[in-house]
Amino acid sequence: MKYCLGVDVGGTTVKMGIFQNDGNLIDKWEIKTRTENQGEAILPDIAAAINAKLTEHQIDKSEVSGIGMGIPAPVTKAGIVQKTANLGWGYKEVKRELEELTGLKAHIGNDANVAALGEMWKGGGKGYRNLVMVTLGTGVGGGVIIEEEILVGTNGAGAEIGHICVNYEETDNCGCGKQGCLEQYASATGVVRLAKKRLQDNADETVLNLETVTAKDVFDAVKAGDKVAMEIADQFGDYLGHALANIAVIVDPEVVVIGGGVSKAGEILLGYIEKPYMEKAFFSNKEVKFALAELGNDAGIYGAAKLAL
Ligand SMILES: [Zn+2]
Repeated sequence: MKYCLGVDVGGTTVKMGIFQNDGNLIDKWEIKTRTENQGEAILPDIAAAINAKLTEHQIDKSEVSGIGMGIPAPVTKAGIVQKTANLGWGYKEVKRELEELTGLKAHIGNDANVAALGEMWKGGGKGYRNLVMVTLGTGVGGGVIIEEEILVGTNGAGAEIGHICVNYEETDNCGCGKQGCLEQYASATGVVRLAKKRLQDNADETVLNLETVTAKDVFDAVKAGDKVAMEIADQFGDYLGHALANIAVIVDPEVVVIGGGVSKAGEILLGYIEKPYMEKAFFSNKEVKFALAELGNDAGIYGAAKLAL
């Protein structure tokens, strides 16, 4: 058993990688996600692509430990999904079907959770066994790893950090239908929302434009010393830092890894999160380290491969 396979299924592409069991990436590639007809082609496409690549690399299936796969939906430990927002699948026994199609052992996880496992294995959380990861993209994704194991939960919806309520007074709806979710303040769209609110009644000088402002604009302006941008970053940091302090009470992590598009702002971002975290952290949780994710779009295939081992 020298190899394992990592598969990261997204709404438009499926990323795949062949790894050696020590985590060395031998080859990676991607195929289209064909979501038409309730996504019936997705798993057969993946199985065909895997078979072709193993043949190309002259790897026999007896040398493969298994396949790990991350999918954008809650998925149980048994590899069952009830519903997917963007793959077309309803109830599906993903693990069983993939095993039947490939003849290999399969392990299925939620994509954000799997990415957290990848960052623990070979990325920003390398060397740690207890980790919280937050992915700040269009939404806010999360993953919690305890003793190197993903926190999955009953329905596979463990560590949906984006939907922790951080503002009981909020009246706008989150995409999930609740109000006051972390995602409404700490995602890329959340930062824009905070910025627009601040800029609407702005009498202070700023380089930010009410109509066109993006999350990147905000953090670029922070780096240039823009006071209004710093206020917006403070708000963002307070929501996220306080939420992480609450999560730490349950998880007691060694490291918090910040990933996703917003994390491209770099080290400066960590300061904005760490300070409010320390203000609200339980005394035993103050030693936690903050790190940026390092694997980018490959976190999913690394985590999936680790899941297969
Ligand atoms: Zn929500």
